[in-house]
This record gives sequence, structure tokens and C-alpha cells, in this order.
Amino acid sequence: MALGKYFSDIFSVGKSIGIGMGITLKYFIESLLFKKHTCTIQYPREKDVIPERHRGIHFLETEKCVMCWKCADICPVDCIYIEGVRGADGILAGGWRGRKATLAKFTVDYTVCIFCGLCEEPCPTQCIHLGPDYDYHATDRRMMEKNLLTDAVYTEEDEMFVQWARQENERLRALAGQAHGGAGAKEGSG
Ligand code: SF4
Ligand code: SF4
Repeated sequence: MALGKYFSDIFSVGKSIGIGMGITLKYFIESLLFKKHTCTIQYPREKDVIPERHRGIHFLETEKCVMCWKCADICPVDCIYIEGVRGADGILAGGWRGRKATLAKFTVDYTVCIFCGLCEEPCPTQCIHLGPDYDYHATDRRMMEKNLLTDAVYTEEDEMFVQWARQENERLRALAGQAHGGAGAKEGSG
């Protein structure tokens, strides 16, 4: 009895494997001869069609950005970094003008971004987007920070804009402090 079950199990398993392999062979021959059921492509020479709603690498419509930080605030993994100046009167050579600010840094760190798309939601000017590009890769983690202002990897040279923005912010704060102090002194004397 037990021996009968033993051989019946072997037969049953063998039959299942035979059916499975038969289906695989059928698909293999059909894809080879008739290009049916083909589900692999010769990447990177061939690229798949990306659906419109795909959430890939970000791009920014810089001129529309008002530097409100809402996208950075909502990001669940804090991987958006923004720096810039509001009301700067100096010209930042090679700088990027948003609607209400001069942007010095706007990057996304793709070592942590989870492509959730939340950063698009609160943007008041709808200027940050997750685009169709998906093959962002690097051999060094430092190259995984994309500068959305240049559409390239963020580099040490880009840091000079941040330095400029910080100095400019300090200058503007000092000016505002002086103006405030002057107004206070007038009020005190009056
Ligand atoms: S897609 Fe999500 S994780 Fe990536 S930057 Fe936007 S909010 Fe952050
Ligand atoms: S939410 Fe939009 S406008 Fe505000 S900083 Fe982000 S991209 Fe710029």
C-alpha cells in the first residue's frame, strides 16, 4: 500500500513537471519562431514603452519654482535639498531664477528616494515632476545626487552657488537687522 503511494507520488510529480516543461517549451518555440509572448527586451539597445503615469527621475521647471520647500517638507525620506536667496539684488553668475527666489541648490538624492511622487502633490506652481527616465545609475554613491538645476550630477563646483547664497542671505539678514535697529532707535527717540 505504502509502496503504491510512493510510486503514485513519483508519477504525479513527474506528470506536473512534464506539463510545466511542455508549456515552457511551447512558449519558447512560439517566441523564437513567431515572436509571440516575448517579455524580455535587449536592454539598453531596446527600451520598453514607458506609461505616461510612470514615476521616474525628477525634473524641475526652475523658472516656476517659488522656493517654498513644500516638496522637501513632505518628502518622507528627506532626500530633497534646496538652498537659495529671496530678494537678492546681486546677480548670481550661472544662477537659476525662480519666480520669487534665486536658486542655488535643488537636488534629489537617489540613494534614498522611493519614487512615491508625494513631492509633486503640494507644489503650488506644479513645477516639480517625476519624469519618464528611469535608468539613473552610478558607481559611486556621491554621483546619485542629481542637480535638478542643471539636469546633471551634483558636483563640488556646484557648492560655490550654495556658498554665494549663504553669504547673500547673511548680508540680507544684516541689512534687515540694521533697518530694524534704525526704526527702533527712531521710535525710542520719538
Ligand atoms: S518621490 Fe517621494 S521620496 Fe522621492 S523625492 Fe519625491 S517625495 Fe521624496
Ligand atoms: S514645492 Fe514647488 S515651488 Fe515649492 S520649492 Fe518645491 S518645486 Fe519649488
